[in-house]
Amino acid sequence: MIDTHIHGDSRNGEDFDKMYLSGIDVAVACAYYPYNQYDDAILLNHLMRILNYDTKRAAEYGLDLKVALGIHPTNTNLDGELIFENLYKWIENEDIIAIGEIGLEDLSDNEYGIFKRQLDIAEETKTNVIIHTPRKNKAEVLDEILEILPQHISPEYVVIDHINPDVVEKVIGTDYTLGLTVQPQKMDKYDAVSILDEYGFDKFLLNSDCSYKPSDPLSVPKTIRELKKQGFNQKDIDKIAFGNARKFFRF
Ligand SMILES: [Zn+2]
Repeated sequence: MIDTHIHGDSRNGEDFDKMYLSGIDVAVACAYYPYNQYDDAILLNHLMRILNYDTKRAAEYGLDLKVALGIHPTNTNLDGELIFENLYKWIENEDIIAIGEIGLEDLSDNEYGIFKRQLDIAEETKTNVIIHTPRKNKAEVLDEILEILPQHISPEYVVIDHINPDVVEKVIGTDYTLGLTVQPQKMDKYDAVSILDEYGFDKFLLNSDCSYKPSDPLSVPKTIRELKKQGFNQKDIDKIAFGNARKFFRF
């Protein structure tokens, strides 16, 4: 199984152990620092920690952490240039499989500027992006994102994450890949199962987004087992368990 969006820096070795033992082979570790930073060098240090330290910690438990780095909307009180420079380097060296997570949250001017710049870098370097949608004002912020994307990036590189039953209709007809996050206070496994049942398995990736916030690092295996229990077709289950993620991230 592949958990397509976690925050490995906020989880301990015991979680990595449980994830691996529950059948998760690969997880995509995204960048997000839960506190405002005012200096690019400090954020750079956070990103390098994910790349060089958390990947090794997870590997000790058998879990293969692939890495997505970028400037999360929470961390946009920055100039950004030092991070953009490093993004080019990490992409060139194939250190990262995506720019992420990026997106909009409060719709501040800084957020827009940094979001658009990262989309441009992704398009220029043919790199995937993992796009966050917020808990608050999700529909409104998603509308903004949907307006910006076509001016900056081709849909094949984009996953729009944290899609839930309230907003799925807005994006189901688009060419973007869609992320389903099963996490306490966000969406439970039953809602994820009903979305897959109603809209099919082809467009979706599954993840736990386990972070510092209330989280369940095993929400991907629990959702997969629920699908199995309810008798869904194994071919479809394999798509959401790993097939779609391998295809989208090309690993
Ligand atoms: Zn996240």
